[in-house]
Amino acid sequence: MSTSAIRPKRVSSASRSAPSENDGLGVESVEPRRAAAVLSGFNGTRRVPPPVNEPIKSYGPGSPERAELKNRLKSMSAERIDIPLIIGGAEIRSGDVAQSVMPHKHRHVLADWHRASAEHVDLAVKSAQQAAREWANWAWEDRAAVFLKAAELLATKWRATLNAATMLGQSKTAFQAEIDSACELIDFWRFNPHYAQSLYDEQPLSDRTMWNQLDYRPLEGFVYAVTPFNFTSIAGNLPTAPALMGNTVIWKPASSAMLSAYYIMKLLEEAGLPPGVINFVPGDPGMISDKLLAHRDLAGVHFTGSTAVFNSMWKTIGASMSRYKSYPRIVGETGGKDFIVAHRSADPAALSVAIARGGFEYQGQKCSAASRVYIPESIWPEVRDRTVAIMKDIRMGDVTDFRNFMGAVIDKKAFTKISEYLEHGRKNATVVAGGVARGESGYFIEPTLIETKDPAYRLLCEEIFGPVVTAHVYPDAKWAETLKIVDETSPYALTGAVFGTDRQAIREAALALRNAAGNFYVNDKPTGAVVGQQPFGGARGSGTNDKAGSKLNLVRWISPRSVKETFSPPVDYRYPFMQEE
Ligand code: NAD
Repeated sequence: MSTSAIRPKRVSSASRSAPSENDGLGVESVEPRRAAAVLSGFNGTRRVPPPVNEPIKSYGPGSPERAELKNRLKSMSAERIDIPLIIGGAEIRSGDVAQSVMPHKHRHVLADWHRASAEHVDLAVKSAQQAAREWANWAWEDRAAVFLKAAELLATKWRATLNAATMLGQSKTAFQAEIDSACELIDFWRFNPHYAQSLYDEQPLSDRTMWNQLDYRPLEGFVYAVTPFNFTSIAGNLPTAPALMGNTVIWKPASSAMLSAYYIMKLLEEAGLPPGVINFVPGDPGMISDKLLAHRDLAGVHFTGSTAVFNSMWKTIGASMSRYKSYPRIVGETGGKDFIVAHRSADPAALSVAIARGGFEYQGQKCSAASRVYIPESIWPEVRDRTVAIMKDIRMGDVTDFRNFMGAVIDKKAFTKISEYLEHGRKNATVVAGGVARGESGYFIEPTLIETKDPAYRLLCEEIFGPVVTAHVYPDAKWAETLKIVDETSPYALTGAVFGTDRQAIREAALALRNAAGNFYVNDKPTGAVVGQQPFGGARGSGTNDKAGSKLNLVRWISPRSVKETFSPPVDYRYPFMQEE
């Protein structure tokens, strides 16, 4: 299938449209698209198609998907696109631009993207408020159809484009892009309508004299969606989940994942999302947040990113409570320090593969990545040697070379931060393998295994967000004590795994670590949650645990109204007990 139809026009800096003199905001002279009123006119209880997880394509040699993806990678590498703001359906070019580059070839510019000004943020609020008047009143099935269509477009015509943008812009391999920007996002868009339906299905009891109903209203106001760089699927889900429930949204994408974010917007437009329902506002996060978090109509925040940023947003919201019309819903999935704890009965081969895949895939930049492992001394030599053998075999480099298992870390800031952790490891622990950072042409960090005797060592406690796994080797007899250490070492509680074949030991770990992870794995790596199978999210310092891609998340974007209708209202104020004997 040709992808030429979905390539945006290449805009050189000379031909880029200047801000219009009329509004001073850079709104192009074209009329903004307006939402068409959708009138309800349908009798029948409609059911969304039963969702099925999108099959993962292999991209093996000779496969048609491999050929299509390679073509798109080539064409995308050859273009430099211009990414506008999209507010109320209008493309806006502020002229204040920044660049998106390939992390693995950081001199290669993929796109110039426009930053919003404070006035653009105001415009986005206005546009969200206007669009809400109609969108909130669409039949929910019509809203669901937009996202079901988006899923189908992504499964077919848009698949190569979104995967290529994720590979080039975020340095994911073909497989890592496929499970994220294709399969997971398709799953979000197919499963969420199904969960919405099951939520709307829940209605209260009635009898012959009355009919009780629950009207699952959207929130009153706009939702502010702030997305991270590391998952294109999360970037797509955070604005669309509240929109599915009838809300309108202002979306601030991550500056280091702008290419894939922009293509998500274009895909949604093609799927029929009305203008103003989701407003795409890239720019300075501090300025945008200051404006939106202080707005009277802030109805909710849908955030994924670091714990520090989420905490600062929560603090601002707390300090602004007296301004709001309603209590804003605050949903945030944040950092992790995810563990693998092995019992002496664990299979060393399975354990070392889990460490390598869980710790190093996507350069350890998954919130769920294994970054601290606890291994009994009886099996450590074998686990260490097997893991090191895998690490020696791993190829790292340009993700368009499909032989590579790893690409580069996202940007210079991440590269510097991870390099500092490596330096700390060299000075204070034992670097078993890896440990080298090379940043001249791309931000490459070798997969690294560090061993420490100190269970409170810094690298076992802090989120590094890079391909660095720290191992603590414990005496076999100290299983129960080690479980306590795993539970208490870090402030996070996102994902974790236990390895062992002794059923009693596994039960002990599951109980001792009940609050240490929102996603707990037995004999499996702690990454790779699938929508509809392992609803994702953690507690403690890892977030509000509202489980993205589940009914539990959608509940946060509604404000139900109870409606009671009485068929024969009483016409006498007196009750029977008041009558004379
Ligand atoms: P980040 O916190 O640096 O950025 C996330 C988003 O917040 C970006 O859009 C960024 O521009 C924005 N932001 C930055 N400063 C802000 C401010 N002052 N006000 C408002 N917004 C601001 O995180 P990141 O580097 O993009 O992503 C990595 C982090 O995300 C890691 O900590 C990781 O664990 C976490 N994460 C968690 C989950 C989860 O489900 N728990 C999933 C993915 C990523």
